[in-house]
Amino acid sequence: MDLSIVIPFYNEQDSLRELVEKIYEIVVPLQYSFEIIFIDDGSTDESFPRLMEAKANHSEIKIIRFRKNFGKSTALSEGFKRAKGEIVITMDADLQDDPGEIPNLIKALENYDLVSGWKKKRHDPITKTIPSKFFNFITRILTGIKIHDFNCGLKAYRKEVIKAIPVYGELHRYLPVLAHWQGFNVGEIAVKHHPRKFGKTKFGARRFLSGFFDLLSVLFITRYRQKPMHLFGLFGLINIMVGFAILLYLTILWFQGIGIGRRPLLFLGILLVIVGAQSFSLGLIGDMLISTRDTRPKFAVKEVIE
Ligand code: UDP
Ligand code: MG
Repeated sequence: MDLSIVIPFYNEQDSLRELVEKIYEIVVPLQYSFEIIFIDDGSTDESFPRLMEAKANHSEIKIIRFRKNFGKSTALSEGFKRAKGEIVITMDADLQDDPGEIPNLIKALENYDLVSGWKKKRHDPITKTIPSKFFNFITRILTGIKIHDFNCGLKAYRKEVIKAIPVYGELHRYLPVLAHWQGFNVGEIAVKHHPRKFGKTKFGARRFLSGFFDLLSVLFITRYRQKPMHLFGLFGLINIMVGFAILLYLTILWFQGIGIGRRPLLFLGILLVIVGAQSFSLGLIGDMLISTRDTRPKFAVKEVIE
């Protein structure tokens, strides 16, 4: 199979039929063998029956139906698990992403392993675009990946990439980071973006808080997944050392006959040593956990020459 298009949706009844038609208009002339995998993320509206109608005369459509709403990341990872195409394209179901960009994404994939869309001219409310710019900026700096729009729904992947990256929680926002960490080449192209035509966004203001937590998790799992001791151990060691120095100083004073029982510094010293020891043991436990399971990147090897 050449191409899998993976589309998660949650209550998008009014967009689905138009979306299917548009995708066929674009993809059929490419003469690829393809499949369209829709993931119904627990929709409670008419999305599912409408999609079933569309499936009746479009045999390339496959539908994965969730028992309840599990979120976009889970939907994507189920889609990835089942995708058979050498190239995998993801897009949103709300018609904000333009299927017309599919050929451009495929073209750009010649030079990359993952190509992300960049909603250069974005049609979303300003309450969403400004925080998003900020997040993208921070992510760009912290990860060193030079793309503008990490969380664009429209992306193209080579098969190895989707089989290698773990998408859980709400990590779909940082897929390029997860791919980059495994050594895949990440690029981007500017894509057309449309205002939402039907329904409303599924991510409210909470998106910013979860986006922040997810950034922390993604940084942690990409940098320290295989060596938690390097993070917790370092933090613990610094705390213990500073605490120890403080206590040593106070001990010397005490030997000189100066009372130290009421010094706030004493409490700070004790606190630092305790917090440090805890962080240190967290690092040890982390390392113990990893030693019992294989967390090596699945596709670390690009080729073997003998
Ligand atoms: N979506 C989903 N499960 C969810 C939330 C969203 O499958 O729990 C889908 C949604 O139907 C759409 C895509 O993810 O196809 C992007 O969602 P949305 O358009 O609401 O996000 P926004 O464009 O506002 O960032
Ligand atoms: Mg949208």
